[in-house]
Amino acid sequence: MKFNMLENAMDSLNEAIDYYKNGIDNNDERCFKFCILLLSHSAELILKEILYTQHGILIYEDIDRVKNENDKTVGFKLALHRIKNICKVDLGRYNNYLLELFDVRNNIQHYKFSISSEMCTNIITSSFSAIEYIIYNILHRTFNDFEDIITEEQIEFLHDDKKMYNKKKKDIAQDILDHNMVKIGVEYIKNKFIYIPCPHCSEETLVNEGDIIECKFCGRKFNSIEDMYNEDFNCVISTHMCREIGRRKDVLRNIYECENCNNDTLIYSEVLGEWICLSCGNHISSITCDDCGDEVPNCEYNYTFAQSYTDTEDYMYLCNSCGKKLKDSEYGYCEYEIR
Ligand SMILES: [Zn+2]
Ligand SMILES: [Zn+2]
Ligand SMILES: [Zn+2]
Repeated sequence: MKFNMLENAMDSLNEAIDYYKNGIDNNDERCFKFCILLLSHSAELILKEILYTQHGILIYEDIDRVKNENDKTVGFKLALHRIKNICKVDLGRYNNYLLELFDVRNNIQHYKFSISSEMCTNIITSSFSAIEYIIYNILHRTFNDFEDIITEEQIEFLHDDKKMYNKKKKDIAQDILDHNMVKIGVEYIKNKFIYIPCPHCSEETLVNEGDIIECKFCGRKFNSIEDMYNEDFNCVISTHMCREIGRRKDVLRNIYECENCNNDTLIYSEVLGEWICLSCGNHISSITCDDCGDEVPNCEYNYTFAQSYTDTEDYMYLCNSCGKKLKDSEYGYCEYEIR
């Protein structure tokens, strides 16, 4: 028997998404019911897939008496139990989401269905969140790997649905905290960060996972910070950074144009003691302005260099505003060569 559990799981997920969408579009509670049944079927197969990746035998209910491949396989609860106790995979809160899904599924199957439509949506959103978490983080796949089963439109629908989006965002933020993951960002003042958004989904959910960078929201992986910037075809990062810098103008004070990418996103990090471009990751060391003492990027493109015509020992590296002040003053250009 060939195990296509994950493909089958995606088939059910595909139908679950459509039922959820129809339920919303037509305000039809029955659709939510079918959605829950299909989600439960999908989740069960996904759990079996986790077991199967650890050892093929784990998907059978009675491990010691497996005679052939058609023997009874594990149910939902036993699968969850084995994942935790044998595979040592901690599903955290998603374990509870799935248990709840399982209970509601049973109620529906035994016609004890009497939960509110709001409760239904809660279970549906948390189940989708759990399934996506497992696909990305435990099985290390993405929905895009199943593009002939789950369409781009369906993925978009899931991610655009407000309730779904909020639930997932909250879960991921909590995951990052719970697992002490470090988000990719720049600490510009002690304990103050600007986080770099994912070039694909624009969420601030990029974290270091060993040697690579991973987006916890869309599952994209990058081999390095450089790769991440190179994949930013739509300027998601620079647009985001211009906005973030705008919000912190008073704190960041001096902002320069980056020679590398021409965005006005070169900021000084007090913590790093150097300049960093938030759009392209360019690092530049720092010097101080010989007039006002402010930090200036140590780069010809950014500082103003003023050299006296009469005294070679008399030269200055100036910040933007001091450079401008000198140019506009009576000394500028007649006493200094300003570059
Ligand atoms: Zn992403
Ligand atoms: Zn740059
Ligand atoms: Zn200055």
